Amino acid sequence: MPVMTRTYDCIIVGAGLAGATAAEALSVHGRKLLVLEARERPGGRGFSRAFGNSGEVVDFGGSWVTPWHHRIRSRCARYGVALRPRHPVTERRWFRDGALHRDGPVAAGDRAAHESALARMAAHSALLKSGLKTDHHGFDIADKSLSSYLDAINAPRATRDLVSAWWTVSGNGDKTRVPASEFLHSIAYWDGTPDGMCEVWADTLVGGVHALAAKMLAASGAEILHEAPVARVAHGDDGVSVTLRDGRVFAAKSAIMATGINPLGQIVFDPPLPGLNKAGQEAGHLGRAVKVWAKIEGVPAGIVATGGGSGIEWMFTERATPDGAALAVGFGVAANGYVPDMPADIEAAVARFFPEGRLLAWDWHDWNSDAYARGTWVAAILGQPQLHDAETWAPLGRLAFASSDIASDQAGWFEAAIISGEEAAAAVEAAI
Ligand SMILES: Cc1cc2nc3c(=O)[nH]c(=O)nc-3n(C[C@H](O)[C@H](O)[C@H](O)COP(=O)(O)OP(=O)(O)OC[C@H]3O[C@@H](n4cnc5c(N)ncnc54)[C@H](O)[C@@H]3O)c2cc1C
Repeated sequence: MPVMTRTYDCIIVGAGLAGATAAEALSVHGRKLLVLEARERPGGRGFSRAFGNSGEVVDFGGSWVTPWHHRIRSRCARYGVALRPRHPVTERRWFRDGALHRDGPVAAGDRAAHESALARMAAHSALLKSGLKTDHHGFDIADKSLSSYLDAINAPRATRDLVSAWWTVSGNGDKTRVPASEFLHSIAYWDGTPDGMCEVWADTLVGGVHALAAKMLAASGAEILHEAPVARVAHGDDGVSVTLRDGRVFAAKSAIMATGINPLGQIVFDPPLPGLNKAGQEAGHLGRAVKVWAKIEGVPAGIVATGGGSGIEWMFTERATPDGAALAVGFGVAANGYVPDMPADIEAAVARFFPEGRLLAWDWHDWNSDAYARGTWVAAILGQPQLHDAETWAPLGRLAFASSDIASDQAGWFEAAIISGEEAAAAVEAAI
């Protein structure tokens, strides 16, 4: 196989938002860049396309931007990507005890226990936000999985189902292995309640994040190879050499690995990554959300429905379509015994949450079996926070790492991918 002798200042592996940000930042310094992307498109877990055969473009991966996510907002303004405000929530529905309810998530008999559990969650989320890990009774908030946390606060069944539904859009991994803090941090963004979580999801990008990533990459002037999965990275004091699965080799002064942490396990490093990085490369993260779309006739936009305990546990009729139907987004988590089965799971969720509606069409992308994602957004492993820590993933000589999975702030969000891409680019710029 030919060895490409042309030397770049930096090879960026992965054209998601972190990789695109790194390219954008290094281009300011006039660096000669090569981006190697395994897929036929940029954007990674930011991926939108038309729903079914309709003209409605929907986000199959990441979607929402919060009011404080200034980096992505400023790039949208710079590259002419419009933002669409989220439809207001006009109605709430809770599925419990085998039926759909509109008066709250729990029955009257459970109300006291439910309110106590909610109050403790709100208090614990506030403590975590202020940097504390125990409450004044000595209750340790940070050492528990979501399952053991709910046991410890004596949450009744219906409260667990409510939390489980909102977990699909927050912690999104195995409830027995992901720390409860992933959930408690998410409810702290608003009023400390599960049902308040979506209040901070302010906008989505018209055309999707991959359109923004494509514009950022084009503006960077980087050379881009699509359908170029990287198999091996040799690194040392002199630079890096990157080998594709098809045997092509590229050399550069430096490299930024912007694949996300779960796909890193498929890449061989020479020399191997040290201690914690190797452990992180092998373990990855636990995020395993299932995101689906359904076109439903006979329901308006703006309904949030939760419950069921498994399968698609959370749905939101996100927008009305021109032909009078609604497009609903739904979430579940492929863990704790739930194995996705489409379209049966979507049919079941629509029947459960929108009995007055008729399912017209459905669509989804399976990120968990996607070879270049192998999961969704980052979910930590209980007891091993350092595996996804930005400090663990600090540059190793000429090799840097960038992804929302390992960002120093806002981990898991698009904003985190940008933060991480900026930091990796600054480190590489200093090194070369
Ligand atoms: C279903 C879902 C819902 C989400 N919802 C939200 C949300 O509402 N708001 C939000 O802010 N975030 C959300 N996220 C998270 C957000 O999408 C991610 O945090 C962000 O897109 C990650 O960007 P990244 O650049 O770090 O990684 P990625 O986007 O994963 O980019 C990595 C790139 O590397 C490529 N790659 C992998 N392996 C190789 C290889 N061997 N060789 C070459 N290239 C390789 C991949 O193809 C990919 O293009 C969601 C994610 C998912 C999956």
